[in-house]
Amino acid sequence: MNIHEYQAKQVLKSFGAPISDGRVVLKADEAAAKAKELPGPVYVVKAQIHAGGRGKGKFKEESAGEGGGVRLAKSLEEAAQFAEEMLGATLVTKQTGAAGKQVNRIYIENGSDIETELYLSALVDRGTGQVAFIASTEGGMNIEEVAEETPEKIVTVRIDPATGCMPHHARRIAQALGLKGATAKQCGKLIPTLYKAFVEKDMSLLEINPLIVAKSGDLLVLDAKMGFDPNALFRHEDILKLRDETEEDPAELEASKHDLSYVKLDGNIGCMVNGAGLAMSTMDIIKHYGAEPANFLDVGGGATKEKVTEAFKIILSDPAVEGILVNIFGGIMKCDIIAEGVVAAAREVKLEDPLVVRLEGTNVEKGKEILANSGLAITPADDLEDAAQKVVAAVKGTA
Ligand code: GDP
Ligand code: MG
Repeated sequence: MNIHEYQAKQVLKSFGAPISDGRVVLKADEAAAKAKELPGPVYVVKAQIHAGGRGKGKFKEESAGEGGGVRLAKSLEEAAQFAEEMLGATLVTKQTGAAGKQVNRIYIENGSDIETELYLSALVDRGTGQVAFIASTEGGMNIEEVAEETPEKIVTVRIDPATGCMPHHARRIAQALGLKGATAKQCGKLIPTLYKAFVEKDMSLLEINPLIVAKSGDLLVLDAKMGFDPNALFRHEDILKLRDETEEDPAELEASKHDLSYVKLDGNIGCMVNGAGLAMSTMDIIKHYGAEPANFLDVGGGATKEKVTEAFKIILSDPAVEGILVNIFGGIMKCDIIAEGVVAAAREVKLEDPLVVRLEGTNVEKGKEILANSGLAITPADDLEDAAQKVVAAVKGTA
């Protein structure tokens, strides 16, 4: 789960990280009053959407005025004007896709005098099971580009959970960022603060791009992207309250309510699979036979008839879907139960698209019998290859 920049900054502030003073604005008519609470005289007006690249983004509507989703305002009036223009408009950035995202919240922040823009992030390095900091002097830019073109400018510092964050970790990061004197000393405080916030709040990603050195020499968190491990959210009620469901894909949101892992993709073959590994290989083999999966959907180990029905509904809510492949391995779940679920669900949603089902595992013969006797146009498949070929042929009209 991700949260907005202004919320991420509040979380960091509660741990003692240096953040500018700012106010969130939800309605255009409150922008002026909110800006007035800040000392000024320069303000930054920032569109709050769950996507980066806002500064270089473009609004779809002309009414949104000149400039992207991050604008420098030289007066109170200008700050209010920018906020009013952006609220309700659709911002398109490199990360939103062509459809863009509607801006429903604005953050007005006290403007900073920037000396240098740096890059700092923390993530879970799965290879070592450690939190890794990634630091670069190339801040404010697309870090993927830096990694590709000048990888030597990116430094990774991993922290062993047995020792936790030590002064030498922070010193190495300060050095990687080219910091000296009092600024390096501030970095020595900032790194353990960020590490503590990351671990205590079960973050999966914290990206500060840019972290700036202000003209005063002070370090400041100027942008913040924060993601959390969904499996740990049950112990962070405060973080759960920050969830903004309007930022999430409606189908993915619906799926999460039924405990289904669903990710929408660009193809036309809907996949219903149990187990993430099986889902991955199902997507791979669909691609191998020349088609594209429309989604990743994992119904989990203990899929019930109700869950299978919900999964069908979610797959079919995607207008791009032209065929469905059900690929289930009956381990804990028995194939006959799955088959009953598939038949009931196909009836309930009045399925018209071609449906290919591959069952394997416990009670597979009973399961196949149920499918065959259902009277529904279900195409059975013997193995994964057979299933993929059949569903690809069906959507291409060559079956
Ligand atoms: P992003 O485009 O979504 O990554 O949004 P950021 O919050 O990173 O802002 C984009 C850019 O706007 C930054 O890299 C800075 O160059 C600039 N910017 C943001 N806040 C300030 C500020 O307080 N003062 C100045 N001078 N520039 C700022
Ligand atoms: Mg940024």
